[in-house]
Amino acid sequence: MPLSSTEHHHYVVIMGGGLAGLTLALQLKKRFAGIDVQVVERRPHPVPIAAHKVGESSVEIGAHYFDTVLGLKPHLQQQQLKKFGFRFFFSEGRRDIDQVTELGASKVLPVPSYQIDRGIFENYLAEEARAQGVTFIDGAVVKEIHLAGAGAGTGTGSAGPHRITWQRDGDVQGATATWLIDACGRAGLIKRKLGLAQTNAHACDAVWFRIKDRIAIDDWTDNPAWRARCTPPERWRSTNHLVGAGYWVWLIPLASGSHSVGIVADPSIHPLDTYNTFDKAMEWLRTYQPRLFDELDGKRHLLQDFAFFKRFSYGCKQVFSADRWALTGEAGLFLDPFYSPGSDFIAIGNTYICELIARDRAGQPLGAHAQIYDQVFHSFYDSTLALYTGQYPIFADPEVLPVKVIWDYTYYWGVLSQMFFHDRLADLSSMSKLKDELAHCQKLNLAVQDFLRAWSLVSKKRNPAVMLDQAALPWFAELNRSLTDTLDEDGFRRRMQKSARQLHDLAVEICSRGSDEHPSLQASALQVLLQAAKVGADDSSDHPPHDSPERRPVACSFERMLFPALA
Ligand SMILES: Cc1cc2nc3c(=O)[nH]c(=O)nc-3n(C[C@H](O)[C@H](O)[C@H](O)COP(=O)(O)OP(=O)(O)OC[C@H]3O[C@@H](n4cnc5c(N)ncnc54)[C@H](O)[C@@H]3O)c2cc1C
Repeated sequence: MPLSSTEHHHYVVIMGGGLAGLTLALQLKKRFAGIDVQVVERRPHPVPIAAHKVGESSVEIGAHYFDTVLGLKPHLQQQQLKKFGFRFFFSEGRRDIDQVTELGASKVLPVPSYQIDRGIFENYLAEEARAQGVTFIDGAVVKEIHLAGAGAGTGTGSAGPHRITWQRDGDVQGATATWLIDACGRAGLIKRKLGLAQTNAHACDAVWFRIKDRIAIDDWTDNPAWRARCTPPERWRSTNHLVGAGYWVWLIPLASGSHSVGIVADPSIHPLDTYNTFDKAMEWLRTYQPRLFDELDGKRHLLQDFAFFKRFSYGCKQVFSADRWALTGEAGLFLDPFYSPGSDFIAIGNTYICELIARDRAGQPLGAHAQIYDQVFHSFYDSTLALYTGQYPIFADPEVLPVKVIWDYTYYWGVLSQMFFHDRLADLSSMSKLKDELAHCQKLNLAVQDFLRAWSLVSKKRNPAVMLDQAALPWFAELNRSLTDTLDEDGFRRRMQKSARQLHDLAVEICSRGSDEHPSLQASALQVLLQAAKVGADDSSDHPPHDSPERRPVACSFERMLFPALA
């Protein structure tokens, strides 16, 4: 293809300037003084606010990446909304939200997270990238990619650079790059070129739209006691989930004043063609979540957009290569929006890419590290995927879903978040010492997910008018706070052992609660206990014994929070 201007060489070229590409550009600039980075983005800037993209709710890892690793706290605090955690209502078919079980925190937990208007954020990220010296070319569509041959990452510098061309305003331009990063989202340019696409077992669909008004969930009832349960009484700042069999509906407020609404469902229970237009989605809400239907019915004229994805979850055979290319964000893989891990995986992937580039700049070989980082990244993907696959039927269960959420979060804050916050992701010596423990925890998680699924098949699904208050679980709030500790090597090892103990104790408690009420669950419980025994197996040295007062709080407070209301 003929080029209209001189071709430049850049050390890093990032194809796609969305969330993953722009944050990577900023991370590279922050870490390597003077590094030459170019970002080529299809959409002209500024992009529209509110009705831009999904990926609006952040959780702890993604939030920490944005506010601390990238240093964007002032923007997040002043231009976006501080999130009031996540919140779930078992409100299927109901208008009386104060009469159903609510799972959430009565006060904001210590580690911050944010509701992000993606339009506002991407405009800011692009301006910031330009201010930091990134060459940001908007309105430019990447057309062709030529990847340098194998051996690029041997440290010898012998292989030639990568080369891309893009089209902008009718002109074709090109550049060469030492490192080529695919951050093109679902377009997945390198993935397609190298045949890296991989399906997974998680079949799920989603639709979403933005309404140019606030959805004032706090006003859905006049009940003063219900309103007073939260301090401040601002549930609207939460990511609110209205849940039912095989689906959940998200309500996410945006700083621009709009509200994002999404329906995410297992197609074996709710086929996509029953809710894949705005009118159909409204009829669907009228049946399944009528209080939200009432709220939206009078605001139809404020609709800003409507979109959907069929089978949004997928894997990818490889995301990092010693041949100096990498995939980040949705150009690689995507799990599920429940628990909002999209930004987390961007944070983790970008961090590994920076590590590989650091090695390369230091003249060190990449082969082993690219391979190990790829394996570790995929193991995070596999263990997180287990939280979702086949689990959507549980969403209708006010008894089992809260247990699952507590378990999933104990796993998330206790394992993956500790590694990210304490900067141990790329520390292969630390990771290899923890290898067995992490593998046991991963298997325990699978066994617990199986147990929860079995439990939900027999559970009575009682739905009392109570709040299951996560802030009232002292160990759970402490686990969240502990992410901000400063730990040395030994402290980090002990922290991970403590997390394993907590998972062990919680798993035992979950099994005993479920199988005490439902003896048919005993076989399933046994599988969990066998795996839990392995997690507790190195319980020697400085670990308190199982029946010590130090270990009882997990079980006792868990019991107090989740079960008395069901008696
Ligand atoms: C239904 C749903 C809900 C979600 N909710 C959440 C959530 O609440 N929280 C969360 O953290 N994550 C969420 N996610 C995930 C989130 O959307 C992604 O993590 C995030 O948007 C991915 O960012 P990205 O940069 O990889 O892709 P994008 O933001 O899509 O960016 C890719 C960019 O590449 C550009 N591009 C594409 N092709 C070309 C080309 N040929 N040339 C140049 N540029 C190109 C595009 O214009 C785009 O700007 C959700 C995902 C789904 C499917």
